Amino acid sequence: KSFEELGVNEPLRKAVEEMGFEAPMPIQERVIPRLLGDANDIVALAQTGTGKTAAFGLPVLQRIDAGVRRPQALVLAPTRELCLQISSDLVDYSKYISGVKVIPVYGGSSIESQIRSLRAGANVIVATPGRLIDLIKRGVVKLDEVNTVVLDEADEMLNMGFLDSIEEILSHVPEDHKTLLFSATMPADILKIAKHYMRDYEEIVV
Ligand code: AMP
Repeated sequence: KSFEELGVNEPLRKAVEEMGFEAPMPIQERVIPRLLGDANDIVALAQTGTGKTAAFGLPVLQRIDAGVRRPQALVLAPTRELCLQISSDLVDYSKYISGVKVIPVYGGSSIESQIRSLRAGANVIVATPGRLIDLIKRGVVKLDEVNTVVLDEADEMLNMGFLDSIEEILSHVPEDHKTLLFSATMPADILKIAKHYMRDYEEIVV
């Protein structure tokens, strides 16, 4: 299948074509139409390098209403490096969409400059859990317009002790959001999160 057949719109297709993406990778074929449609939550067993960032990134960007200057999608990742990588990929994909703001927030760097970026308006927040909680507590980030939550490298986030933080963050997101969980391994704790937080999720293995 082509990106067009998966339902990806023209501006996004143009951007990824310029990046050299000729055809969707298997995880993209499976995740993109589900996330663009009215599918259930998704738990995907996927390693890095499988194309998972575009699998969630393209449909997330396609569904953003840039006129609403509030975060509508939230991506949680374990490390600053991954956070920056994801947000730079999303910025590349959104090259031909006007007005979509993707803001990375992560620990170990100035919170003040992140606050300034967030105050200017964010549609997608890509965050490490600890820093995001700090920003929620300061009242800088409001998650009440978030309709999609992506937990990337969920197993790593649990290994790093972020379970409580993730639970705290999810308590600020409206009940009826869609959740996508990506993990390279599927330990019992991950399945516990999935069972607790996700309704009728579908499992995808690539
Ligand atoms: P990820 O698993 O998201 O880290 O992606 C791994 C690498 O594959 C990244 O360098 C992407 O830019 C690249 N990539 C993702 N999707 C495609 C595609 N459909 N065709 C070619 N390269 C891709």
